[in-house]
Amino acid sequence: MVWLILVYNLDGGKMAITKTKFINYSRCPRYVALDDLKKEKLDSMISIDKYKKEEEFEHIAELLSGMFDDEGNDLIDVKNEHLETMMPYYNKVEILAGELASKYFSGNFKFSKSTYNQESFDAVIDNIRYLCYVDIYNENNDGINIIEVKATTTKKYLNLGSKEQSIFLKDEKGIYRLIEDLGYDIEDYMPVKVYERNKAKLFDRFTSCGHYIYDIAVQRFIIENDMKSHGDKRNVRYYLAVLNSNYVFDGKYKDGEAIYDTINGEDIIAYIDVTSITRDLMDKIYLDSQKIKRYIDDLSGSRVALGEYCEYKKTVKCKFCKLCFDVLPKEHSILCYMNNNFGFKDGNTKYDVFDLINDGKVSMLDIPSSMLNREKNRIQRECVVSGEPYINKNKIKGGLKMIRYPLYHLDFETFPCPLPRYKGERPYSQSVFQFSLHIERKEGVCDLEKDHYGYLAADHLDHRLELVKLMCELIPDDGMVLVYNDSFEKTRLKELAYIFPEYKEKLLKIRDNVFDLMNIVKTNSSLYERLGYSKEEARMFNYYHPDMDGSFSIKKVLPLFSNLTYKGMEVGNGVEAMVTYASFPKLLPFDYKHKYTKLTEYCRQDTYAMFAVLDGLRKSVK
Ligand code: SF4
Repeated sequence: MVWLILVYNLDGGKMAITKTKFINYSRCPRYVALDDLKKEKLDSMISIDKYKKEEEFEHIAELLSGMFDDEGNDLIDVKNEHLETMMPYYNKVEILAGELASKYFSGNFKFSKSTYNQESFDAVIDNIRYLCYVDIYNENNDGINIIEVKATTTKKYLNLGSKEQSIFLKDEKGIYRLIEDLGYDIEDYMPVKVYERNKAKLFDRFTSCGHYIYDIAVQRFIIENDMKSHGDKRNVRYYLAVLNSNYVFDGKYKDGEAIYDTINGEDIIAYIDVTSITRDLMDKIYLDSQKIKRYIDDLSGSRVALGEYCEYKKTVKCKFCKLCFDVLPKEHSILCYMNNNFGFKDGNTKYDVFDLINDGKVSMLDIPSSMLNREKNRIQRECVVSGEPYINKNKIKGGLKMIRYPLYHLDFETFPCPLPRYKGERPYSQSVFQFSLHIERKEGVCDLEKDHYGYLAADHLDHRLELVKLMCELIPDDGMVLVYNDSFEKTRLKELAYIFPEYKEKLLKIRDNVFDLMNIVKTNSSLYERLGYSKEEARMFNYYHPDMDGSFSIKKVLPLFSNLTYKGMEVGNGVEAMVTYASFPKLLPFDYKHKYTKLTEYCRQDTYAMFAVLDGLRKSVK
């Protein structure tokens, strides 16, 4: 959906604000002023092409939040033009949702990829004119259905509830509705408390599931006011159309295009009824519109308190984070305390990290040790004070003793495509397109080029079998496989084992032989307890350096043990690797060859970095 808000100023001028702007303008007063410092600039009408462009970036941010956790530091530095590579995937989701809607809803439909052919609503409320475009508009004898398409999955909604049961259930047509909206007794499914606690997350616009609910609630606000002004009393229901995380693609194609038929009763798109949820949000949306009006009238660029509304480090973060968060020092800021939320205590009073920042406590050293609840945070602080690393040599030595040679350093690159591309995949499956392997033949002996092996898919055809075959040939049954942060690689190996039954036994063996280098750098409680360490010591990290600033990512750890660097690499992080691969079909031969080489170099660096860290760790405890 795309929508505009046009504000009539007292002098009769018009101000145009896109949908993205409503969501952003309601964050804080400063955003409005920073976005358009000159009032005259706000008075101009916005072109349809400009707001379509703004919408595109929002869709891209939504796509990326489906692809990555909202902690991805990497995302901050990736260029928008790279991310635009993702747009065709969003457009395809929109088309599929429109085509499938007739299976779930009767009557006439209006939907289009372009806003020019979409149904629109507009309303003037308190001198502000609002206009919205609807993704899928459906009219039938019962009234109107408004369907908003989002490139996210059902997973985050179906995960709300008890362990066994979501707060949403399918009705007889297959549409997800709240248990209470189906007229069922909640207690038959879960304790009411559990239900209410989970449902409350839908009303928080800063949670991953509440984000989309807030969006469609704003749309409802405009539609209701438009209809009221015309005396239109028809019944309107509101739905989210999202990717179905239970859908497993069967690998059927026509003319090279994936065909998403109904499989085992599941469709690629699922529809969620959010009518009662958005109704309960109407008062809040009205208050937010009032807030925006005040912010526009005041147009003050003064600093305001930082808070969760900044959505710092999320894919949907405020675009002015860089500017407003300049109060934080570049190194050792208070946000570098691991698990910092409510980790600070003074007597019986607990402090939120933003309360402290707004109170001027911006650096790690602004927090006295006595206010740090956690031992890990106290060690972080001590490291900053001394400038020295914390090392538990015995634990590191214990971990190193478990390593067997030859050692196989393994890493995958994946493309979490919103739409499954190959047989056995679901929406946002981490589709493996590359593996990199460095073989450390004996302790400390590994050459960047000579000991490197790997496979990088040349195009977007399904190359998983070739990749699996080569990997299985290179790694012997009993070879120890070293990875960094094992849950990712282990899950991929397990998925590939079930997709390729002929390699299942071998792939599961590789998976069983995986050892996580992070166990030695950070720790692994159960592993170190098995080695005889107390619960407390096993839980405590093995190594911490002040330069890590709370992160154990390989990119942070590598410079502590080696001169190897990702700086200056054309493909220098996971997101750039993914968008480079995604761009392959569009590249001209010369560019393709160049990008293929750069991507290969990046992947090679990832496994050599593991060797370098391991080697550095060995030397640090000698
Ligand atoms: S970063 Fe936070 S404080 Fe700054 S403009 Fe954005 S929302 Fe407001």
